[in-house]
Amino acid sequence: MDANTEYRKTAGLAPQECGGCGKFITDRYLLQALDLYWHEDCLKCGCCDCRLSENGSTLYTRANLVLCRRDYLRLFGTTGYCAACGKVIPAFEMVMKAKGNVYHLECFACQNCNHRFCVGDKFYLCDNKILCEYDYEERLLMASLEFPNKRASLQQQQVNI
Ligand SMILES: [Zn+2]
Ligand SMILES: [Zn+2]
Ligand SMILES: [Zn+2]
Ligand SMILES: [Zn+2]
Repeated sequence: MDANTEYRKTAGLAPQECGGCGKFITDRYLLQALDLYWHEDCLKCGCCDCRLSENGSTLYTRANLVLCRRDYLRLFGTTGYCAACGKVIPAFEMVMKAKGNVYHLECFACQNCNHRFCVGDKFYLCDNKILCEYDYEERLLMASLEFPNKRASLQQQQVNI
């Protein structure tokens, strides 16, 4: 079973067994999801325990887990695309963030010399590329030699990890 199982409130006809607690549902409304019927209180997110009947009209299942949208996306969604390698980053993976970009941890390195950064290291974003301090200053120097007036536009974008 995969994501996006719809469910709806149905006025109860004959009592149905609840897919959660196994008791008959005598409430006026019951939920229908995953080919089973549920008490409104029994259809809960397996992660945060929120009642899925109050949480929009879509629930998500994966590997026998019933999840709310938020937890599903957190666990199985994606964070976005790595600004360095361009590949998808799964939502559960640790990422580095800088100036609105996200990076795989292993991709977060100077894109000129491959220097890996430690906590507290300075790095710079230059034309959306990560640079270490050394390469950044070198680039700044080159720019000021080639285009003496361009220096101002290559502003320092220093970020601390
Ligand atoms: Zn129940
Ligand atoms: Zn949840
Ligand atoms: Zn990457
Ligand atoms: Zn470097």
